[in-house]
Amino acid sequence: MNYYSLNKKAALSSFKNAVIKGLAPDKGLYFPERITPLPQDFFNSLDSMSHADIAYEAIKQFVLPEIPEKDLRQIVASTLSFDFPVVTLNDHISTLELFHGPTMAFKDVGARFMARCLGYFNQDNTQEVTVLVATSGDTGGAVANGFLGVKGVNVVILYPSGKVSEIQEKQLTTLGQNIRALEVDGTFDDCQTMVKRAFLDDSLTRNMQLTSANSINVARWLPQMFYFMFAYRQLYKTYEDIVFSVPSGNFGNICAGMMAQQLGLPIHHFIASNNVNNVVTRYLISQLYEPRPSVQTISNAMDVGAPSNFIRIQEIYKNKFDTLKEHLYSYSFTDAETRSAMLELYNTFGYVADPHGAVGYLGSKAYLKDHPDAHCVFLETAHPTKFLDVVEAVIKKDQPLPEQIQAVMDKEKVSENITTYEDLKAYLLTNY
Ligand SMILES: *Cc1c(COP(=O)(O)O)cnc(C)c1O
Repeated sequence: MNYYSLNKKAALSSFKNAVIKGLAPDKGLYFPERITPLPQDFFNSLDSMSHADIAYEAIKQFVLPEIPEKDLRQIVASTLSFDFPVVTLNDHISTLELFHGPTMAFKDVGARFMARCLGYFNQDNTQEVTVLVATSGDTGGAVANGFLGVKGVNVVILYPSGKVSEIQEKQLTTLGQNIRALEVDGTFDDCQTMVKRAFLDDSLTRNMQLTSANSINVARWLPQMFYFMFAYRQLYKTYEDIVFSVPSGNFGNICAGMMAQQLGLPIHHFIASNNVNNVVTRYLISQLYEPRPSVQTISNAMDVGAPSNFIRIQEIYKNKFDTLKEHLYSYSFTDAETRSAMLELYNTFGYVADPHGAVGYLGSKAYLKDHPDAHCVFLETAHPTKFLDVVEAVIKKDQPLPEQIQAVMDKEKVSENITTYEDLKAYLLTNY
């Protein structure tokens, strides 16, 4: 499969090149040249297939033959070695739990799949690849864990000092091997700016192959479509009009759901559930796309002012506002509303949600007011203990730490402090 750049000024790219480069040379996001719907039989027999078989069928057209069938089947199966349970709360609301992976946020699947693809492409390569990634929390841990021990790949994670939770910091600073953490005296935006500058810096790129590992990379973005199929598989015999409410930040996850729909998955509608960083909610009302600097909230993985994947969503719906509006609803909620939702979920259903999942729940409720017959599935994108302070303060009950989290809490943090872009550059040139 070839990929084109959404800036339309770069040459077509192979899957391999798109994975290694991340972004096209004209700075556009890559998008697959063709999307071929899967046969109806596939959707009719979902409940008799394994997760790995579903995932292989969904992703193969985007990857074969650059990774051959046997290897791709292996990559998919080892990526998905944990559970994706659907918990039904009542006749109209379920939640799909995406936090059963090693770092307990949904980003594990994309990070693991991308790491395995990059490892495959790099197995006979003498030039090492350096993955450079800025994180506000969950991406760092998922990437660190996914890429740990992958031959020929170095990982450098930049995170804002004092601005990620203790659990998140441990997840990205304690692994060692090919994973290094740089603690930046600054904000997430400062980290992001440094990373972007490094990709454009000839004096670095002449000396090393740099790539990104956020959802602009096709290998991190596309496997997220599996989630929607897994949830549908569990619900389609019981409910019609299945709707997904996706807590959205960079809009990679929801955009992957839309790809699943393009493959033929009968998703009735999508709901983009936002905190007060709501550029898309406003766009669907006013038709004006007006990004703003991000505002800090308790659902901080969604504190994004200008979602990088929105351009892919526009492409999927052929840049037609009316078509987009037929498929996508969007609502935005404050932190106070999010806290009430966490309490309501706990008191009504005994369900402990993290702040991102709670925003997804609120989106489902808002949608159901106008569409009372639908069945909404909100994605629970992180385990509640990843946001322990907020969760315990709201529901007033101590939460036990899951195994995966306990295991890193006892390990020693190793990081290096940097302040300026020159520090980053010197670090990279010295170490790689
Ligand atoms: C990254 C993240 C999101 C947002 O996902 P996007 O694909 O960027 O829209 C939501 N919830 C959690 C917990 C996350 O880590």
